[in-house]
Amino acid sequence: MSSPARPITAATRVIALLGDPVAHSLSPITQNAAFQDAGLDGVYVACRCTQAELPGLLRGLALAGGGGNVTLPHKEAAAAIIEARSPAVRRTGACNTFWAEDGVVHGDNTDVAGFRRAAEQVLGAPPAGTRVLVLGAGGAARAVLAALLDGGAEHIAILNRTLSRAQAVASRVGDRRVHVLASASGLDTERFDLLVNATRLGLSPDDALPLGLERVGRVGAILDLVYGMHETALVGEARKRGIPAANGAEMLVAQGAASFELWWRQRAPISAMRRALEQAVAPAVAASVAPGTATQGA
Ligand code: NAP
Repeated sequence: MSSPARPITAATRVIALLGDPVAHSLSPITQNAAFQDAGLDGVYVACRCTQAELPGLLRGLALAGGGGNVTLPHKEAAAAIIEARSPAVRRTGACNTFWAEDGVVHGDNTDVAGFRRAAEQVLGAPPAGTRVLVLGAGGAARAVLAALLDGGAEHIAILNRTLSRAQAVASRVGDRRVHVLASASGLDTERFDLLVNATRLGLSPDDALPLGLERVGRVGAILDLVYGMHETALVGEARKRGIPAANGAEMLVAQGAASFELWWRQRAPISAMRRALEQAVAPAVAASVAPGTATQGA
């Protein structure tokens, strides 16, 4: 049973999501549920803003005692605005969480911790020694790479529509375990423990699959970072083939919990966050949120 809603007062901390667009974000739902469950005097709102507006909003919120998250397309700009950068921000060049301490604006990238947790859940173990195929080379892929490399993955192949972007991501990381693929040809003889979809494909039910699974020799598990109001086509395809798979809902909850802990310096009520998300999204999506319920093939 959650606590009754607290009134907004002059002491209420304002935590805001900054990005464009923000209207469809589920973070206000999960974070306000968490604030309420923990009995905290805070409110989470979403502010659509331009890159020119970002520095003033970000610094102003943080220095006024609040904080926030940053989403597309401003995560890289945010990394340049904050004054104290976490190792995850330095590693990825992106910041998704900010707050202030002693007048200094701090930032972290909790997508890294969020992905780590979701990957461990679908793999059933940390990624040490695994072979992973990452589709996509945008901001999310950078967080994926950082988490996989830190987690001891043995071999990471990146395949992206725009080859030069994959090459840029790989050279930024500069680790011999990361390999860029120019195309999907030859994957039919390869074995991967985990396939990660870090492209945008799957956001719309009409999207093509990011990669036909028949093109890969063997895949042990699939983590689709995309989440929404429907089961993604990739998760559906994995289910048909008996491959354990999950969508991005657990990563969303886990990165949000990590942000909560940076703002409030206390453990996040992760069950309350999952519950709020389950109530907000369709049953097919919610089914992959709870621990140990990665969808198994029929
Ligand atoms: P991004 O920086 O804009 O990158 C988008 C990626 O998708 C790029 O690799 C892009 O390839 C690829 N792409 C876009 N349209 C494509 C198409 N038609 N065909 C093939 N590839 C296409 O976005 P991002 O921040 O990395 O986010 C990627 C996905 O991860 C989004 O769906 C986002 O919602 C999800 N995400 C989920 C979480 C979570 O907590 N679950 C967290 C972060 C992100 P090009 O380089 O060729 O353009």
